Amino acid sequence: NKQKETLLITGGAGFIGSNFITYLMKKYPNRQILNIDKLTYAGKTDNLTEVENLENYHFIHGDIADDNLVNQLFQEHDITGIINFAAESHVDRSINDAKAFVQSNVLGTMILLQAARFDWEKKGELTTRRFHQISTDEVYGSLDNEGVFSEETPYDPRNPYSASKASANLLVKSFGYTYGMNIVISSSSNNYGPKQHEEKLIPTIISNALAGKPIPIYGDGKNIRDWLYVDDHCRAIDLIYHYGQTHAMYNVGGNNEKTNIEIATQVCEILDELAYNIKSVLSIDSFKDLITFTDDRKGHDRRYAVDATKLTNELGWKPTEDFTEGLRKTVEGYVQKWQQTSLTR
Ligand code: NAD
Repeated sequence: NKQKETLLITGGAGFIGSNFITYLMKKYPNRQILNIDKLTYAGKTDNLTEVENLENYHFIHGDIADDNLVNQLFQEHDITGIINFAAESHVDRSINDAKAFVQSNVLGTMILLQAARFDWEKKGELTTRRFHQISTDEVYGSLDNEGVFSEETPYDPRNPYSASKASANLLVKSFGYTYGMNIVISSSSNNYGPKQHEEKLIPTIISNALAGKPIPIYGDGKNIRDWLYVDDHCRAIDLIYHYGQTHAMYNVGGNNEKTNIEIATQVCEILDELAYNIKSVLSIDSFKDLITFTDDRKGHDRRYAVDATKLTNELGWKPTEDFTEGLRKTVEGYVQKWQQTSLTR
């Protein structure tokens, strides 16, 4: 009975989690949603204004690595599924200090798994209720110019963030093997879209450009990422959570490989049209003039590219957002927000 389902979403005040909750509550208006989020620097309840007043949406300000709190959640609610987005997510921060990454991404995942295992075992629901882990293509390491990551590519994480995400996946898999828990893992490429934290590439390009500050691009700018519009990712998660095979891994990719310098150039070209008034105040011909190459990130992975054929073949998913349009929409949204906040400054 779908009406009785209570889905626990973790990290739902962050970028992808908040887009997912908003998407899900529109699509399944009767579903009970519990969102537990620690509200780290990356989490914002403002990301959830579209759902916060719905009576089937419940927010819990808390840490997934707090086992008393997580166990209490299972006692107070009949949780019928979990989608675990909660994580420290910024590679640069993990290079400065990896501790919070192990705490939230590894320990936090284990505490959720364990609480779910105890509760669902007791209720005889271990193989029916689902634990869905949100993962990243970064667990596979780095590619040269050739090839793509498949679900069989061995894990080879190169920075503390991706190592913590790979570790979490291994724990999730182990709970599948050891206890027969109904787990599924989806590993997606770089997301873009509304509500992303300012520290990530596209929002940084926009906010620095509009403030007339240098736009920092690592190394030679030729590192390649595969970009996926966040709504396409949300649709993939919905399909995988509901219909993905038990114990399976699914890659989710946008089929959209771009170098960082291509992204910066394209964003600046859009800004040249949308924010020409700011451009003239700054007395520059183009926001591209602000692009500045900086020392490369330590251990900077060269290229990520994922093969999402399995997801397409099994569940009929394909990315639908055209990159040029998706990027324009995204930039427009951030410019509007920037203008609103600069009016109230
Ligand atoms: P984000 O940093 O925007 O959001 C993370 C959210 O988790 C924040 O709201 C934060 O407050 C919360 N959080 C962190 N630690 C917590 C804890 N211990 N307990 C409870 N809440 C906690 O990240 P995002 O970009 O939305 O990423 C969400 C998930 O998707 C992460 O697991 C990330 O590894 C994965 N992912 C992200 C991308 C991407 O391009 N952004 C790509 C692939 C996978």
